[in-house]
Amino acid sequence: MGKSKQTGNHKSDKKKNIAKTWKTKRRTKDLDQIHADMKPGTAAKLLHQEVDYDVTGCAQHYCLHCARYFVDMRSLKEHFKTKVHKRRLKQLREEPYTQEEAERAAGMGSYIPPKTVEVKTQPVEEDMA
Ligand SMILES: [Zn+2]
Repeated sequence: MGKSKQTGNHKSDKKKNIAKTWKTKRRTKDLDQIHADMKPGTAAKLLHQEVDYDVTGCAQHYCLHCARYFVDMRSLKEHFKTKVHKRRLKQLREEPYTQEEAERAAGMGSYIPPKTVEVKTQPVEEDMA
């Protein structure tokens, strides 16, 4: 009798926790974070990461704009052709200003902020394939 006392409760409890983890876990970065990642120094670091066996593709095939890792160069190139990626580039173009720039633009009449930001798919190094 006492044997089954705990099992049902324990099981449902575990299930609940997993569902909660999935829902709250953010899988993508915010656009402003990606804008920060697009700065040349940061971008170079992200695109040339050290081999990390815990990360998809050992962290060697990263899409800067979507903040996603891919298993190999082919998958990365395929991803560049997808709607998801193109939509992301468009989003990044439409939101070009950092808070700092907006404040500067507001404070100084002479400061002309860049109208558009050219956001291109990162160059692919063919030699790496
Ligand atoms: Zn992408």
